[in-house]
Amino acid sequence: MAYKNWSPLWLLLALCPLLLLLRAHPPLAAPAGAAGEIPQEPKLVALTFDDGPKPRTTAKLLDGLDQRGVKATFFLIGSQAEAYPELVQRMAQSGHQIGIHTYDHVVLTDLGQADFDAQVARSRRLLTDLLGEDRFLLRPPYGAVDDGVRARAGAPIILWSIDPEDWRDRNTQREVAHIVGNVQDGDLILLHDIYPESVEAALQVIDQLHQAGYAFVTVEELFAARGVSLVDGQMYRSCPP
Ligand SMILES: [Zn+2]
Repeated sequence: MAYKNWSPLWLLLALCPLLLLLRAHPPLAAPAGAAGEIPQEPKLVALTFDDGPKPRTTAKLLDGLDQRGVKATFFLIGSQAEAYPELVQRMAQSGHQIGIHTYDHVVLTDLGQADFDAQVARSRRLLTDLLGEDRFLLRPPYGAVDDGVRARAGAPIILWSIDPEDWRDRNTQREVAHIVGNVQDGDLILLHDIYPESVEAALQVIDQLHQAGYAFVTVEELFAARGVSLVDGQMYRSCPP
């Protein structure tokens, strides 16, 4: 009978290639993040939304951000914040950062102190009344900054590095492609939460960039993570690693 020839030695020799094969392959099946993998710093990006709050679109965005556990930064128009305080309070309660985008959405360059205060200090006062804090980043409408704006800001001036110009054609797919195709670690992405197409684009961008290893943080968290202290009156467009 043939199997009488399978001495222990033959059996060992026969099993050797199989054992080598098994040793070579298990790492391929190791799950992401398993012990032994080299840990990678997450790529960080900040989503920023201007011109809100607006009831329907901002509320939908806040729902989507909550579902995804994502924190964003909202640069609010003071008159809108005054009209919809419950949305502002919901933002703060969800851990989002809130900044000032003037009271009436005006260009701040060439304004005297009184006119500047009527836009920025007035917005700061009403946000302080709503939220009990008084430190708010400033994003001047249209990114218009001059020496006067820098001198009067009383806050870090936050611009942006990725702008799909969502107001132009309000096309979700074009906006998503622009952002995902251009984004880099440390970018500040500009969108407007007053357009349903932009809200949809933001949520699609989050899902795609999560897959690509990005984490979403507030503007303050982004700079803090990189050891950068924000200074009043200085302009910031991004925070590369
Ligand atoms: Zn604006």
